[in-house]
Amino acid sequence: MQKVVILGSTGSIGTSTLEVLSRFPERFKIFGLSANTNIRKLKNQITKFKPSFVTVTDKEGYNIIKKEISGSRVKILYGVDGLKEMVSHPETDLVVNALVGAVGLIPTLEALDSGKKLALANKESLVMAGEIITERIKEKNAQILPIDSEHSAIKQCLLSGNNKEIKRLILTASGGPFFKRKSLKNVTLKQALNHPTWKMGKKITVDSATLMNKGLEVIEAHWFFDVPEDKIEVLIHPQSIVHSMVEFVDGSTIAQLSVPDMKLPIQYALLFPERLPSNNRTLDLTVLKNLTFLAPDYKKFPCLNLCYRALELGGTAPAVLNAANEEAVFAFLKKKLKFVDIPYVIKKVMSSHHLVKKPKLNDVLKADQEGREKSKDIICKSN
Ligand code: MG
Repeated sequence: MQKVVILGSTGSIGTSTLEVLSRFPERFKIFGLSANTNIRKLKNQITKFKPSFVTVTDKEGYNIIKKEISGSRVKILYGVDGLKEMVSHPETDLVVNALVGAVGLIPTLEALDSGKKLALANKESLVMAGEIITERIKEKNAQILPIDSEHSAIKQCLLSGNNKEIKRLILTASGGPFFKRKSLKNVTLKQALNHPTWKMGKKITVDSATLMNKGLEVIEAHWFFDVPEDKIEVLIHPQSIVHSMVEFVDGSTIAQLSVPDMKLPIQYALLFPERLPSNNRTLDLTVLKNLTFLAPDYKKFPCLNLCYRALELGGTAPAVLNAANEEAVFAFLKKKLKFVDIPYVIKKVMSSHHLVKKPKLNDVLKADQEGREKSKDIICKSN
């Protein structure tokens, strides 16, 4: 029986993970859960899954849970220290990191350092500190598995193993709600939050609309599979059926196909290397008929190129890019920044950053902080 800690259990990936784990009660026990502000959902999860530990990262939420759940068997923890305590607990076997944003980095490192199997949905970890994490994985001989559908697809295509055989990785993108739209000038929040194929949290839905999400995935793929950026390509594939592909040096291309449902890559990561039956919907290709692929419009979606640029620069550049993007998206969600100004903020912050080429964790955290402060400044001045 594996004891599982889910960080971000009330979000969309966290909820799907709990659903997948419930399919295999003889294999998994829910050991720890964490949430930020969705306290009502967390309370329901505590009642249903009876974890031993719960961490709340929001102070107000923590106080509410502490008051309302007191006397029960679950231990209530607070903040990043709470996350670390659950992750490194000697009884924890498997950590699912489904946190959103830079806050996911420290728990990722904690999981690797304490020798836990890590299923990673938090892309910011590898974007911010890819080099540090990959070194840590080698050092600790740790097991890390992707949950993101694209990286899960590539992992499934690469079972033969040798990455010298890779000619290129092709990450597919749905294109978001605007890939057909001519001008992005007057995009509203409601339009940006209306994703055509995936149902996800707000931050990642906006990232999908700007194609920043795909750019972050390019950086993530670079670190996950040790492939240089000029061998990682993006194709728009509006049906979201082919989740990514690997082209090999001999001219063969292997793709992974399924209906767009995150429960599939989640189950693959949790059970890896095994495959077990599931009640996921399966594909009917005769109904689908068309699978289309086209090159992205880099001019209309500058975020994609900003990610390639950050990866090429290396060092602390991706951490700054990520911080600026998080702040710009938060401002857009609060209607304090226009959709088209998201890449503008990121570009401006990146251009004034003094790069640290081989960063330690401290340099990464400093770059993150700097990126946030500069972004807030630019956003404030634009209002
Ligand atoms: Mg993805």
